[in-house]
Amino acid sequence: MCDVISQAMSQLPPASRRGVLKALGAGVAGGGLLVAGGPAAAATQRGHRVGGARFRTRVVLLGTAGGPIRLGGERSGISTAVVYEDRVYIVDLGAGAGVRLAQSGLGLEDVPGSMLSQVRGIFFTHLHSDHVTDWPHVYLTARANTFDRTLPAMQVYGPGDRGTLPRVFPPGRPSPPVYHPEDPTPGTVGMTGYLDRAFAQDVNDRSRDNNVGGPGELFSVHDIDLEGVWDIDPEGKPPRLSEPLHIWTDGDVRITATLVDHHPTAPSFGYRFDTPDGSVVISGDTTVSENLIDLARDCDYLVHEVIDAQWVDQIVAPFPDEVASAVRQHLLGAHTTIEQVGRDVAEPAGAKNLVLTHLAPATNSPSRWRRARRGYSGSLIVGEDLMELGVGSRIAER
Ligand SMILES: [Zn+2]
Ligand SMILES: [Zn+2]
Repeated sequence: MCDVISQAMSQLPPASRRGVLKALGAGVAGGGLLVAGGPAAAATQRGHRVGGARFRTRVVLLGTAGGPIRLGGERSGISTAVVYEDRVYIVDLGAGAGVRLAQSGLGLEDVPGSMLSQVRGIFFTHLHSDHVTDWPHVYLTARANTFDRTLPAMQVYGPGDRGTLPRVFPPGRPSPPVYHPEDPTPGTVGMTGYLDRAFAQDVNDRSRDNNVGGPGELFSVHDIDLEGVWDIDPEGKPPRLSEPLHIWTDGDVRITATLVDHHPTAPSFGYRFDTPDGSVVISGDTTVSENLIDLARDCDYLVHEVIDAQWVDQIVAPFPDEVASAVRQHLLGAHTTIEQVGRDVAEPAGAKNLVLTHLAPATNSPSRWRRARRGYSGSLIVGEDLMELGVGSRIAER
C-alpha cells in the first residue's frame, strides 16, 4: 500500500473513512465509531486493562529474544514499550519489533496504520544490530503508520559517534580491515542520515508521486551528549556515574539514563522512566553494572537482559581450551547471567519486580530462567512477547 491512501483518508470526514477502512479489510470493531483524531482517541485509551484491571502506566514487552542469532521459537528481537496514558515510549527496535508494535494495540483504537500515532519517543540502548535492525522499518514506513497523528515529531535518542574503534579481540589478533573507514563509528544521527541516503529512491518516489514529505519530518533524532562525562576508549568500560543522565522530561514522564557495561560496545545505556504511577528501568545489554543498580534503585519494574552461562559453556565446548575460555569471557563479560541478575542486580537495587528479557538463548524453557529467583526477594517475571504489566495502582473503573 502506498502513502497516498492514508493521505487521501486524512481528507475525509470520519464516517467516510469507515467505508475506506472496510474496503481495506480493516474492519471496525463491534460496529463502533472510527476514532476521528488523536485527542479523541487518547480519551478512549487512558487506562488500559492488564489482567482485568486498568492501569495508567504499563510496560509492554514487544520482543524478548536475545542476540542476533535466530534459534527458532516465537520470540521477536528485543524491544520494550513504556506507556503512560496515551503516550508511548519505545526502547530498542530489534528484529520484528515493528510487527509486534502493530500487534500490540498501542496505536489508535480501531485505526489501522496508526502504530506510531501515539509514539512520543524512541530510545536506543546501543547500536548493536539486534537492537536497531527494525529502525529502518519503522523509520521508512512511518509516513504510512502515523495515521491521525496530531503529536509533534517523535524524539529519538541514542548513542552518538564514539569516535574510536574497539580493541581487537582476542588480544594479539591482527587488526581486520576497517569497514567504511571515512566514518567507521556513526552514531544515531549519522546512522539515520545514512537511511535517508540508502533509501533515497523510495523517499523521492513517494514525495513526488504521493505528495508526502520524507520520514525525517516525523522524527527529531538526537545523539546523547557525553561531553564531560566520558571520553570513550577502545576498552569501552564506562566510568561510575554519580548521578543519572537527564534525557528528556515529557510532561509527567521523566526519562533518565546511565552508562551500562557492555564493553567494548560503547556507549551503552540503560533507561529509567518515572511517571506519577511508578518507575520502569530497562537495562539494555550489560554485565552486572553498579551504574544500573543505582538507576534501578527501588524501581517498580526492572526489565533486564539475561544470558544462560550453561548455554555459553555448550557453545564453547568444541573449541580448544584457550579459545573456549576467551569466547566465554567475552560473552559473559558483556552480559548478565541467570545467577547474577536477581542476586547481584535486582536485589541490591531493591527492584520490586524483575522482568527477564533479551533471553539468550531465546529457546530456553521458562523453568530455566526462573532460577534467577535465587537470592532475589522480589517478584520474578519471565518475559514473553506482548506481555503487559501494570505499574502502580489500578485506576477506578468509570
Ligand atoms: Zn543485544
Ligand atoms: Zn549488544
